[in-house]
Amino acid sequence: MVELKTAGEIDAMAAAGKIVADALAAVRENARVGVTLLELDAIAADVISGAGASPVFLNYAPHGASPFPGVICASVNDAVVHGIPDAYRLKDGDLISIDGGAKLDGWCGDSAISFVVGQGRREDQALIDAADQALALGIAAAIPGNRLGDIGAAIGNHARGLGYGMLADHGGHGIGREMHEGPDVPNEGRVGKGLRLRPGLVIAIEPMLIADGTDDYRHDADGWTLRTLTGARAAHSEHTVAITEDGPVILTR
Ligand code: MG
Ligand code: MG
Repeated sequence: MVELKTAGEIDAMAAAGKIVADALAAVRENARVGVTLLELDAIAADVISGAGASPVFLNYAPHGASPFPGVICASVNDAVVHGIPDAYRLKDGDLISIDGGAKLDGWCGDSAISFVVGQGRREDQALIDAADQALALGIAAAIPGNRLGDIGAAIGNHARGLGYGMLADHGGHGIGREMHEGPDVPNEGRVGKGLRLRPGLVIAIEPMLIADGTDDYRHDADGWTLRTLTGARAAHSEHTVAITEDGPVILTR
């Protein structure tokens, strides 16, 4: 089901989104060599609870999956998304993606960032930049009168044009009172095809790029962490975005 939000509801979602942005910024600030993923998870938890919000990933269990044990997803190097924060200590040159979600007054925000720890490799920064650019292009296409396919085309054409892979079977989604609502927001598409975008539609746009041009993945034994099949590194970038008469508004800034 696709539910349109009022201006007041979008304001409420922006308040939730701001908390997610603050949590991700705090994680990034503290993500130094030697810090564990569990320590980063605790930092995000403090920011979210300190703002009077609740984490939405913690204990999330779709389709009978085991409840997700973290406040953030922390996906390192060949892990693309859904990495479980554990005792792993960050190493110099790691490429880490942090995905965070929070709920405030019944409304959700969802956002992800990727960055390198310490002295990163130039090719990793290029991959991250491409994910950020693909996200920006997808957001720019999120205007009334466009269609979902315009967003997917903007993201996919950019990533594929640079020779990167796109994680198979995964994309963005509607968001509101639930973290995952309709519609699905694919990272590839055809211009002029798919659901027409209307003011009040709020979606999470989230390109997931793979460095070696492949799309395939496997699950870790933990049932959550999703890794590239080839071992290539990956980057993930996400914002919650409202489509308004005045254009796209990023709610997780
Ligand atoms: Mg997310
Ligand atoms: Mg999402």
